[in-house]
Amino acid sequence: MDRRDINKISALLAVHRKIVIVSHRNPDGDAYGSSLAMYHYLKKQGHTVTVISPNDCPFFLKWMPGQKDIVLFEKKEANATKILHEAEIVFTLDFNAFHRTGNKMQLALEKIKPIFIMIDHHQAPDDYATYRYSDVTKTSTSEMVYDFMEMFDDLSKIDTEIATCIYTGIMTDTGSFRFPSTTSRTHRIVANLLDNGADNAKIYNSVMDVNSYNRMQLLGRALANMKVVEDCKTAYITLSQYELNKYNFEKGDTEGFVNYALSLKGVIFAVIFIEDKKQGIIKMSFRSKGKFSVNEFARTYFNGGGHTNAAGGRSEESLHKTVQQFLKILPKYKTELEQSYEA
Ligand code: 5GP
Ligand code: MN
Repeated sequence: MDRRDINKISALLAVHRKIVIVSHRNPDGDAYGSSLAMYHYLKKQGHTVTVISPNDCPFFLKWMPGQKDIVLFEKKEANATKILHEAEIVFTLDFNAFHRTGNKMQLALEKIKPIFIMIDHHQAPDDYATYRYSDVTKTSTSEMVYDFMEMFDDLSKIDTEIATCIYTGIMTDTGSFRFPSTTSRTHRIVANLLDNGADNAKIYNSVMDVNSYNRMQLLGRALANMKVVEDCKTAYITLSQYELNKYNFEKGDTEGFVNYALSLKGVIFAVIFIEDKKQGIIKMSFRSKGKFSVNEFARTYFNGGGHTNAAGGRSEESLHKTVQQFLKILPKYKTELEQSYEA
């Protein structure tokens, strides 16, 4: 985003506007962190702002400031569509292609003609935005919302709510500040957030230390199911619908499970396959260490994408067939995986 864009957006926002902020389907800490930070920031300036999320967030984000104000497209389609049609400006945060909002919401977004402002850190952005702030080197969209506020000389507007939301997004997308995307600037930003009211211990506890007994049992099942393909430095986990039901699966319960596979000594590529009978798909999460791009892997074979070291995908085959398909593809990458990183 250059100076000209900043000036134009500044002029746009000089008048009170009807603004909608959209987050992606199955919102995570960064999706809601960035959306709600932007929500509080714009509202503070007198705009009429609505956050629309395609569907609900996991239980561990239900405490976020402003979360209760979010309109769920899945639950209030007519109302959400009306609000979208009336919007003068639509921010799309933490995604860069309309299909990431799901089939129905994608159609609604394709029909409207507001000024679209994209703020996002994923690869290969689509071409729908009037103004695009896209940077794959950033830890999170939440960090970019901070940058955005800085571009407009508005860091002094950061209050406890905004600081809390941005902190949550950075914390969740960096695996609590440990992923390589975390920079000294990230830590400087976080220091500023603490100075402005973010309570680091409270936020961590609210997001991370809320395990149910069932979730722990499900994790035990997932770890017992873990398989290693040693010569490809790969580990994968499966969870069937039957297993999920057995432990009363709730949205968000499997979050982070794939990282256990990646934490195995010598493993640099990890996958979790999760059966979803209701949607008739297998949802996959891919993680890697070093240069091996799970974004490309997910894009090429499993209808997905994301970042170099974290991506998602899906398959419409059975759980068994999907794993077989994966195991058939994997040897093609043996040399690349062997050479990519010495874990
Ligand atoms: P997760 O495995 O946690 O669902 O997703 C990991 C990362 O990949 C996230 O940054 C997420 O936004 C992205 N991602 C997940 N699923 C998809 C997908 O189907 N398409 C694209 N382009 N990105 C995805
Ligand atoms: Mn993100």
